[in-house]
Amino acid sequence: MSHIAKTAPVRKEAPELTGQEYVETVVDLLSEPGRILIVDDEPFNVSGIKVMIQCLTAGIEHFKLKEHVESAFNGKQAVELVKKNFNEGKYFRLILMDCNMPVTDGYQATVEIRQFLKNSEQPAIVALTGHSEHRYIQRALDSGMDSVLNKPAKLEDVEEVLKKYYFD
Ligand SMILES: [Mg+2]
Repeated sequence: MSHIAKTAPVRKEAPELTGQEYVETVVDLLSEPGRILIVDDEPFNVSGIKVMIQCLTAGIEHFKLKEHVESAFNGKQAVELVKKNFNEGKYFRLILMDCNMPVTDGYQATVEIRQFLKNSEQPAIVALTGHSEHRYIQRALDSGMDSVLNKPAKLEDVEEVLKKYYFD
């Protein structure tokens, strides 16, 4: 199974490199694991999911929690991080997005991320919500999220999300 990011290749200026340098650059790009963004206004929820991701990615070559997992505490921060990464030629492969947050909620942040990125650069966005009623799920999907994960997130749920949207 390949863990190389397929949907969001690292964008870099065409390097003026030859020989060994070029080979090293290509190997470097191919081995770059996808990035994950966790967005929740409850720091405890962010930490919990981080720990689960750490467990579930143990043994994946080149994957480092500090390098490949970022977090934001409201939707505005999330949009800003997506733009900052984009400007550095990096993309998130998966975003776990809380729905109810101050400043900008997860629905609005998702709309803005979907508008900002081109199709080939779009991450999977999975809603984190404490509501299981259909209208909340529908609202998440309508805003452009791919699926919904009920809070509090359980290890097996996060594993399923990673399998579906990250490791595929
Ligand atoms: Mg919240």
